[in-house]
Amino acid sequence: MIQKTEQLYEGKAKKVFATTDPDLVIVSYKDDATAFNGAKKGTIVGKGVVNNRMSNYLMEKLTKEAGVPTHYVEELSERETLVKRVKIVPLEVIVRNIAAGSLAKRLGLAEGTPLKRTVLEYCYKCDALDDPMVNEYHILAMEYCTKEELDTIASLAQKINDYLKAYFASINVELVDFKLEFGKTKDGKIVLADEISPDTCRFWDATTHEKLDKDRFRRDMGGVEDAYKEMMKRVLG
Ligand code: UDP
Repeated sequence: MIQKTEQLYEGKAKKVFATTDPDLVIVSYKDDATAFNGAKKGTIVGKGVVNNRMSNYLMEKLTKEAGVPTHYVEELSERETLVKRVKIVPLEVIVRNIAAGSLAKRLGLAEGTPLKRTVLEYCYKCDALDDPMVNEYHILAMEYCTKEELDTIASLAQKINDYLKAYFASINVELVDFKLEFGKTKDGKIVLADEISPDTCRFWDATTHEKLDKDRFRRDMGGVEDAYKEMMKRVLG
């Protein structure tokens, strides 16, 4: 039996614990919510449960049905999951299908404008610098990862998008955009890590275009808990 040992890290939405197996860690999802690099703080009751269960479900499907390697090992409880210990590549990989958020602002597009092809963006994970956007040249010059790793990350991100877009369409949800993080296992393999949840994706109801994600918290729209519950119901039944 794998036992939880000391806490390794506490982030904005999750805690990470070491275990008696040096290659495995336990992630524990909290209800704490932050936005705008921690400037806005709050609680979304039940969020940790939704994000944990939804993320695990989607990662399992991605592996089984699309051949995407992930850090996921086993769901331990409503809020806790056993995952492979990885070294996180310090990049936020943003995948966009429809203009929203910072892209809509930057390029002067109305939110909801469909993009003619998938847009991939990278941000360097660094709170002190407010996660600046970087391109392939910056990433290689700064050695955030190797060229080969970046090519793997880009092709996995496209594969994940193709799979998830179709999956969410089947539950009447538009996958507007989302953020991925990748990690490197001890044998040097790049795997999908972190989470896939309403915290990290923009989900719009395909019929009404109602927002079913963290934008309701970021933009003080109300109905935050209900939106998370609705997504949980559509994904997990
Ligand atoms: N995102 C995220 N964490 C971040 C920044 C963005 O999970 O630190 C997600 C966000 O939920 C959205 C997508 O990445 O689904 C694109 O976000 P954008 O760059 O538009 O930034 P935002 O408008 O969220 O600040």
